[in-house]
Amino acid sequence: MNPEQELDQIAREVTTCQDCDLHLSRNLSVPGVGPANAEIMFIGEGPGFYENEQGLPFVGAAGKFLDELLAKAGLTRSQVWIGNVVKCRPPNNRDPVPEELAACDRYLERQIKAINPRIIVTLGRFSMAKFIPDVRISAVHGQMRKVGDRFIIAMFHPAAALHQGNLKPAILADFSRLPALLDQARKAGLPAASVEVEEVEKTKDDAQQLSLF
Ligand code: URA
Ligand code: SF4
Repeated sequence: MNPEQELDQIAREVTTCQDCDLHLSRNLSVPGVGPANAEIMFIGEGPGFYENEQGLPFVGAAGKFLDELLAKAGLTRSQVWIGNVVKCRPPNNRDPVPEELAACDRYLERQIKAINPRIIVTLGRFSMAKFIPDVRISAVHGQMRKVGDRFIIAMFHPAAALHQGNLKPAILADFSRLPALLDQARKAGLPAASVEVEEVEKTKDDAQQLSLF
């Protein structure tokens, strides 16, 4: 399966998934959207009211603000992947619980593997905690750090910044630094080519070695 096909396959599975209790109250699940070759993945928390109605991520007030933030970074939605750590709406927008995060994580892991982005931007505490545990978002937001062989940047959640005006200048500043950080990530040449490509090359090497005998 190529990355596009894998993303489509994941979206189909998410549509009918019943792996945690959130499926009981959802209207539409929200697999996430964006091109398979996106260099940046934005990962939020979970669908809210409008996302649950439309099956698309960040289409409510926080989504409008996210569009502004993307513009600040010189980006449009068509260039990036946008999704969430849980694909179904928690009732009344409550926080996702550990069982739900654990159940849904396998989809996000497959999406990351398929896209193999240079940078993952986490939006809010829950997606940050997946990659950078035991830190405070107020201490690390906007900093790019290498986790495994990929770069992670934690940012405030756009909805939090909308409701707490004092966070707004920080999130705007963090997004405006994104082009420079993307440049830095490109220069670092990370992440390495996907596993699929590595396997093909290894097979070729093996074949060459065999032909020596
Ligand atoms: N908040 C999120 O975390 N995700 C969405 O998709 C919408 C709002
Ligand atoms: Fe499945 Fe994730 Fe939805 Fe739970 S939140 S039902 S694990 S898709």
